[in-house]
Amino acid sequence: MSLGTYLRNHPRLLEWAYDVTHRVFDALNPAIAKIGYARADAWLRGPEEFGKKLIFDCRMCGQCVLHSTGMTCPMTCPKNLRNGPCGGVRINGNCEVIPTMRCVWVQAFERSQKMALYGEELILINPPVNRQLEGSSAWINMLTGEDVNVPKGWKS
Ligand code: SF4
Repeated sequence: MSLGTYLRNHPRLLEWAYDVTHRVFDALNPAIAKIGYARADAWLRGPEEFGKKLIFDCRMCGQCVLHSTGMTCPMTCPKNLRNGPCGGVRINGNCEVIPTMRCVWVQAFERSQKMALYGEELILINPPVNRQLEGSSAWINMLTGEDVNVPKGWKS
């Protein structure tokens, strides 16, 4: 088992790390705004991709929802579903598209049950993914509010 899989299967450390990082970014937001969000994005996106790829197999969607999906990246679902499983989950809990792979949403549910801080957020509806944010830093998009900008007419 890889380190990333181990950590995701024991998500309390990850959600604690998310919580601390979130607070640090919030505190630093005025300074980051002065530096400029575009410049901060250019500095941050590389390290963010490196770390998240290692632990979450991150696809750099730019709208990170890990804390509300059981610390399981929804973009690793072959259908990129961000609000629960499709109707094709196999009886053994594996994926319809890749039969040897555990369904991302089965994993998200199982892991959310082990979480202490954010597990209940699994039931929240996530906005549709904005492909224009792909490749950018989700932390910076969180500070600017870009991560919750949704297409016109979309309602939760
Ligand atoms: S939700 Fe997006 S930013 Fe977060 S780990 Fe998955 S691809 Fe990366």
